[in-house]
Amino acid sequence: MKKDLSNIKKAKYLLDRNHCVAIPTETVYGLAANAYSNQATSKIFKLKKRPKSNPLIVHYSSMQDLKKDCEINDNFQKLYNRFCPGPITFVLKLKRESKISKNVTNGKKTLAVRFPKNSITRTLLSCLKYPLAAPSANIYTQLSPVSKKDVKEEFGNKIKFILDGGNTKIGLESTIINLINKPQVLRLGGIEIKKVSKVLKKKLNYTKKKSINVPGQSKFHYSPGIPIRLNVKKFYQDEAFVLIQKRKKFDKNYFYLSKNKNLKEAGKNLYKTLRKIKKLKFQKIAVEKIPNIGIGQTINDRLKRASKR
Ligand code: AMP
Ligand code: MG
Repeated sequence: MKKDLSNIKKAKYLLDRNHCVAIPTETVYGLAANAYSNQATSKIFKLKKRPKSNPLIVHYSSMQDLKKDCEINDNFQKLYNRFCPGPITFVLKLKRESKISKNVTNGKKTLAVRFPKNSITRTLLSCLKYPLAAPSANIYTQLSPVSKKDVKEEFGNKIKFILDGGNTKIGLESTIINLINKPQVLRLGGIEIKKVSKVLKKKLNYTKKKSINVPGQSKFHYSPGIPIRLNVKKFYQDEAFVLIQKRKKFDKNYFYLSKNKNLKEAGKNLYKTLRKIKKLKFQKIAVEKIPNIGIGQTINDRLKRASKR
């Protein structure tokens, strides 16, 4: 996607005046606001209908800027060198002198930070005098947006501007790692846990038990708003049938996540496919078994939450 500087300038103009702007990232589109401003960040919660207790991830363009707000450590440095910019978020200790708004952390002494890869958003961040708090640009518990059109569908004219960056490359949210004391996986995401473990030279697992309080990891999330059945072999005629691999036979109920069981491609297509099914007015969704390896684990995590009622 070509960089349009006039759009980046427009986004900056609005953000400088405490408005929210939707921004493209490699994971999903974000609803961004000045992370140092109480006024700007409170608008994010209102627009998304997100509970105040659910803290926001803050996006930076440089390590230098991040150091103004957080304490860093060796594990952070290792993971930063290997994966940033990229789809990984770190929870770090907030510095006492940090200007991050209390809305962002819900008053906690920890901060979730990320360096997004999308070059349009990186250029925008480098022009700003503050980092951007940005959760996904969707209404709370709904499907995350992977294109400008999706964001428009979520918010209509309620947001002033959507910075267009084309379709997102990963299509799933970031992996979140708590780096305060012992490293711990808080959310599965765009980077496989196996790769993170390799860099830290320590095997990490994703378990329900967490050493810190992790709000906002609710069981019901990422929902297309209709019932979903998982690990299905045989679908019913009133169900859209989501498949991991293309089949030879045509069926109007079939929706493919990938051509050839490629899990990265499937991740990229997941939210787009669920949104399409919803628009076609199917009342139910059946999903065939998705291999629970690599990014397949993240896909299964999202589908499980989306299937909760
Ligand atoms: P998202 O919903 O994609 O904006 O991701 C935000 C999630 O990051 C929250 O729901 C929490 O699970 C996690 N998170 C954000 N800030 C913190 C924090 N300060 N401490 C622990 N977890 C956090
Ligand atoms: Mg979200």
